[in-house]
Amino acid sequence: MSRKQKRRNKREGKIGSHKKQGSKLISPFNQIPNTAYMSWMNDRLPCMVWGGLLINRIGRKQAIEVFRQIGIHVGNLFCEVNDRSCNLPRVGIYGLSTLDDDLQDKFFEVLFTDERVVEALKPLILFKDLPLYEKWIEYLGDITENESQLWTILADAVSILLDHQSQEATDCRWAYMIPIVNSGRLQLQTEEQYREFTEYPNYEDQRKVRPFIRATEMQISGGMMDAEYLKAKKAWSENFWNNCKDNTPCFASVPEKNSVDFDLIKTLSSVQNIWTDLSDHFLETDKFTHVQPKRDASFGFCFYALTIAQEGLASSGKLVTAKLALRMLAEIHITFKYLIKVRSEELWDVYRSYGSGQAKLTFLKLDEVLEEQPGYIKREDIEALANEDIYMDFQDIDLGNWAKIDLRKMSQVADCKNIYDAYYSWTSSYAHGQWCAIRDIVFTTCYNPLHRLHRVPRSAPRYEDGAEKDLILLLNKILDLLNEVYPIFEKRAEIVQKDKG
Ligand SMILES: [Zn+2]
Repeated sequence: MSRKQKRRNKREGKIGSHKKQGSKLISPFNQIPNTAYMSWMNDRLPCMVWGGLLINRIGRKQAIEVFRQIGIHVGNLFCEVNDRSCNLPRVGIYGLSTLDDDLQDKFFEVLFTDERVVEALKPLILFKDLPLYEKWIEYLGDITENESQLWTILADAVSILLDHQSQEATDCRWAYMIPIVNSGRLQLQTEEQYREFTEYPNYEDQRKVRPFIRATEMQISGGMMDAEYLKAKKAWSENFWNNCKDNTPCFASVPEKNSVDFDLIKTLSSVQNIWTDLSDHFLETDKFTHVQPKRDASFGFCFYALTIAQEGLASSGKLVTAKLALRMLAEIHITFKYLIKVRSEELWDVYRSYGSGQAKLTFLKLDEVLEEQPGYIKREDIEALANEDIYMDFQDIDLGNWAKIDLRKMSQVADCKNIYDAYYSWTSSYAHGQWCAIRDIVFTTCYNPLHRLHRVPRSAPRYEDGAEKDLILLLNKILDLLNEVYPIFEKRAEIVQKDKG
């Protein structure tokens, strides 16, 4: 199997795993009924942030040993007493506050065995609403150092935990689970699974163990249907993130320097030069003066494509309008190719007459409906266009698509669905002002880890993707089509690279 085929199969597999429901593709995860989960970053990370602080300060290996000791002592103590009022030995910051006193005491006693832990966990006292605040402060003491330094230490810890699959996040998720496993409250299926937990991260292939730990933790830490617990846990998490936001500033990245990578002037003139040659070719191949919808449209597509490509390039290929230019070129290409492929002289008439109908409709609206006349259209120009082929009164107005077939289907008939997929779908998001396009152009991610990767406005729009090669490619493809119907026209546009040095 070739690489290209493999890539295609893989892609089909990903899209194919979605289930079509009406006009929606349902993602594999959402096909599982009744899925509701707490998010690691939003809800669970604030409870296990103490683990991240510990890893950062005393090192991963030693932090894991502290987690293991807590797991053994708190887990064992849990099952030594019958009729406990708490149902699980939870060691998240909120979960701890729900434990019986003896379990809380054991947790703190084991945790603070190593004297470096005090320094490591000091940032926790920045939170006045910390569950068990009094207990924590007994061990951590009051704030004596610079608060902003504590926020920085906290930010460093949060940054390694934000990704729910990172090694450190997995360690913390394991730390949450290990007392529960040791308490016997979680029945694992096999001896092997038990060892994977208790001997983490030294037993078995960790590529298999880590996902297993994360999946188990996701189930248990979701609160196991305990609504009251969930509500209070969420309250702490929200409190944590709100405090982080209130006390630390946003960091927006500096926009990349916008540079044009090709010789703009020479490339533009390579496009402009085609205009004259195309005009000559038009005259050379023209025999009649009567209305010729096929000829006019075919050459018209090419001249129009030259215009659009020039404008896209003039924006250095990087403005949003360069993407809109791509979308227009893709539509011209598909329409042109479709008209050629269908091989019906009548269809060229339909195409032309549809356009005249649109001019008539616009004229009538200017005349009868719109009270404020838009500045960009002149009434008399529209009237002339609408009346050009036949007197407007005889012109029908078609309200649907001109060919009674949408552009996607048209591209399938014309055997250029690849152009539709590559240049029409995504650029349409920009044309329609859909969310991801807006997100892409005007927002950036704040890189203060304490702000949960939220979005902030950029200092200027993002103009980084160069569309120049695509503009030239589509333009040349449209010129290729002309060759199929009115040969021979060989001139093509090209990207001219900058002189080096
Ligand atoms: Zn921010």
